[in-house]
Amino acid sequence: MQLYNSLTRTKEEFIPHEAGKVSMYTCGPTVYHFAHIGNLRTYIMEDILDRYLRYTGYDVTRVMNITDVGHLTSDADTGEDKMLKGAKREKKTVMEIAQFYTDKFFEDCKALNIRRPEVVEPATSCIDEFIRVIESLMEKGYAYEAGGNIYFDTSKLRQYYVFHNFEEEDLAVGVRDGVEADSNKRNKADFVLWFTKSKFDDQELKWNSPWGVGYPGWHIECSCISMKHLGEHLDIHCGGIDNAFPHHTNEIAQSEAFLGHKWCNYWFHVLHLNTNSGKMSKSKGEFLTVSLLTEKGYDPMVYRFFCLQSHYRKSLVFSWENMDNARLAYDKLIARIASLKAEGEIDQTAFDEQKAAFMRVLDNDLNTSLAVTAIYDVLKAKTNDATKLALLADFDRVLCLNLIENAEKKNAQKEEEKASSDDPLVKEIEELIVARREAKAAKNYAEADRIRAYLAEKGVTLVDTKEGTTWRIEANA
Ligand code: AMP
Ligand code: ZN
Repeated sequence: MQLYNSLTRTKEEFIPHEAGKVSMYTCGPTVYHFAHIGNLRTYIMEDILDRYLRYTGYDVTRVMNITDVGHLTSDADTGEDKMLKGAKREKKTVMEIAQFYTDKFFEDCKALNIRRPEVVEPATSCIDEFIRVIESLMEKGYAYEAGGNIYFDTSKLRQYYVFHNFEEEDLAVGVRDGVEADSNKRNKADFVLWFTKSKFDDQELKWNSPWGVGYPGWHIECSCISMKHLGEHLDIHCGGIDNAFPHHTNEIAQSEAFLGHKWCNYWFHVLHLNTNSGKMSKSKGEFLTVSLLTEKGYDPMVYRFFCLQSHYRKSLVFSWENMDNARLAYDKLIARIASLKAEGEIDQTAFDEQKAAFMRVLDNDLNTSLAVTAIYDVLKAKTNDATKLALLADFDRVLCLNLIENAEKKNAQKEEEKASSDDPLVKEIEELIVARREAKAAKNYAEADRIRAYLAEKGVTLVDTKEGTTWRIEANA
């Protein structure tokens, strides 16, 4: 498989460290609020990568952290503590909101068919691990103590800026938040490994450390949690593009300084979901969530379909109009699949040909938009329905769009509607509703009341609405 690697800025043949096995690490959510659908775009595209690697036969182990401590609003070492901010907003403890939003995150993932990684580890359960790695960085001369905190010394590295387009100037982010730059830092790019002199008087979570009571910086968690579960060599590290700098840059700095060798070979970054007014972000309080989509009547699969229609390395614009178009296309697709009849033998040659075409596009840097086109190619192919259904079920092992389930549901619904319209009681009710309407129009209210009473005796209640009369059968009838 050819995969774009942000580290080398080229598409490369994917070769795992150990043949047949893939270790994959995903930066998890900061659980101080709901995940927005932009965050979830990243997790959907990572999920496709994960599932496709499994589909092609790799034994994948995937690890995700849950950020429940240390992440400040600037992504560098300035601004407010995000968890503390969330706890204050909701008048709860940090651990209470962490648990609540972690559960909500996985509910959203479930609704969007995003697989739960094998290992999910909250940062707060790995503090000993962080201290061990920071101690070693101190011993090796990569970290220093200043003003009570422990910093990583970026000047000790041959190359600190590893990803394209990121410059020292980007570190001004924190300053924009109206916070003074940290004068303890020897170099502008240095970052905090351990806060001992707490920036926040009301910091809730604190731990003992060789440097005093305090709490970890944000970046150390991902290096440590990855190394704890996946060892010294990581195949793929994933995240949204905003994480490339400073977060992933700092992860590489500290991991490689600790290990003394290269750590992760492939960096997979998903571009952002934006609205017409710009980037979607939790801190701006703009919340487009999965529950909002459901409330507005969209099946979460429509959002997954919308995401798959474009490439992960292009930014994507969200609008309700785009969602409506995706829904229309998804519903049509399901209707076409529902019309296929599972009859006949599978035509192996046609099956292999279409499957190869599907794999060819995903092998080319995970081109999901062409993988969606491959679904339509199957529907148009000159082969029997049984082969088409088998292919669609096979593709859906990767795409996970509930293609077969939703087509079956649609057929079951149709059957139900047909069965009820054949029912003699239903026919009689429908006829009497018409007769009652006519009686009312002729001001024959006695007849209209007689019809209502007659149906009521049979357990049928008529409901008059602005759109006309509907009916229901009472449960105890
Ligand atoms: P957070 O919960 O803020 O730590 O972010 C969780 C994941 O969502 C990270 O991988 C981010 O890089 C990613 N992310 C943040 N904003 C967006 C966005 N607008 N579109 C896509 N991914 C995003
Ligand atoms: Zn991370």
